[in-house]
Amino acid sequence: MKMEQTKEQTKEQTKEQSKEQKKGQNKGQKKGQTKTPKKEQVKAVLKLLDEHYGTEVKCFLSHENAWQLLVATILSAQCTDARVNIITAKLFDKYPTVAALAGADLEELEQDIHSAGFYHNKAKNIIACCRELLIRFDGEVPRSLTDLISLPGVGRKTANVIRGNIFNDASIVVDTHVKRVSKKLGLTTEEDPVKIEMDLMKVLPKDHWIRYNIQIINLGREICKAPVPRCGSCFLQSLCQDY
Ligand code: SF4
Repeated sequence: MKMEQTKEQTKEQTKEQSKEQKKGQNKGQKKGQTKTPKKEQVKAVLKLLDEHYGTEVKCFLSHENAWQLLVATILSAQCTDARVNIITAKLFDKYPTVAALAGADLEELEQDIHSAGFYHNKAKNIIACCRELLIRFDGEVPRSLTDLISLPGVGRKTANVIRGNIFNDASIVVDTHVKRVSKKLGLTTEEDPVKIEMDLMKVLPKDHWIRYNIQIINLGREICKAPVPRCGSCFLQSLCQDY
């Protein structure tokens, strides 16, 4: 009898311990929330990225000033940077100022940017954006996120490209490569770009924010390609959560 009681007690204790362990594991982590990766893991990833791709902030979109980068970034939605650079090489010759683009004929601009895709919307947004720059910002590209995203055709991603590359303000650009690779590295579990940006802001040191995007684009184009990553030749193998 005494022995039976002990067995039952042991069963109950094990159940309770298991419940407590689960509670402990989930403590501070709501459903769908990214589990914070270990600091050493993040540090090791960033060190290897710096070693392989350097620390220089180099924009892939050709531009000579802020408004040109703004226009190039609007054009880059669903389009390769290489294609955008071919288009803008002629575009900025034809329309050398914000005022020239603000006064562009819609149909003519559509033809000028046709090969970027979504040319009707992009042309409409570029003209409207340049008009707003003239009317509200004296023809200058504003610095704050709030002002930038108030412009036609400018979302958070475009705004962060400008903040980082023009003003050197710490910001994280979440593009298709950052979205895909950050998940593989265990830095986020989110799908929504704004939530991914928030997760990355939490785990990455601020001085890596701008260059992280550039390094991950390089990794995403060369090694961690979609749909089939080249894990066999990846220098992040030992740190990758998806390998
Ligand atoms: S190991 Fe594979 S999945 Fe992981 S980052 Fe490298 S290429 Fe991408």
